[in-house]
Amino acid sequence: FSGSRVEPLLFETVYNQRVKDIMAPAICLPQTTTVADCITNLFMYDVGTLYIVEKDSKQLTGVVSRKDLLRSLLNKGDQTLPVAVIMSRMPNIVRVTPEQTILDVADLLIKSQVDSLPVIESQTSHKVVGKITKTLLTEHFVSEGHKAKGYSE
Ligand code: ADP
Repeated sequence: FSGSRVEPLLFETVYNQRVKDIMAPAICLPQTTTVADCITNLFMYDVGTLYIVEKDSKQLTGVVSRKDLLRSLLNKGDQTLPVAVIMSRMPNIVRVTPEQTILDVADLLIKSQVDSLPVIESQTSHKVVGKITKTLLTEHFVSEGHKAKGYSE
């Protein structure tokens, strides 16, 4: 490869891939889940964020993070309260769709100062189909970096 050919190729593989190519499964729970059960789920699935959905339609209604749960405990909140009482809510949830580019999503993650974004089916259907996290993005950049290093050796 000459330099003039490698760079556009790198841009294509590193930044222009789609959310659907690197997203991971999201842990989704109904709005009636208690604060205590949310904490158990964080440990059980080893995740930092839970996505709260409408029971039947599975439409996104909110997000609950580690700090939300810690704050609730610190406020001596009742651990049997439904998570709907403490979660961050739609429409204020920053979310992405499977066809958005990785560069767009990385920008959004940085701008919104959160650890992860839910991936929803489309802008009209808010059904959760996955998640994008800072860790997934880092893994993607590192694995593409190793591949690019391999090509140039
Ligand atoms: P942590 O609370 O563990 O530091 P985050 O930085 O992701 O995790 O979350 C910070 C705050 O932002 C929390 O109140 C959480 O509910 C909220 N939050 C998390 N993800 C989103 C999102 N995609 N859109 C809007 N708010 C979010």
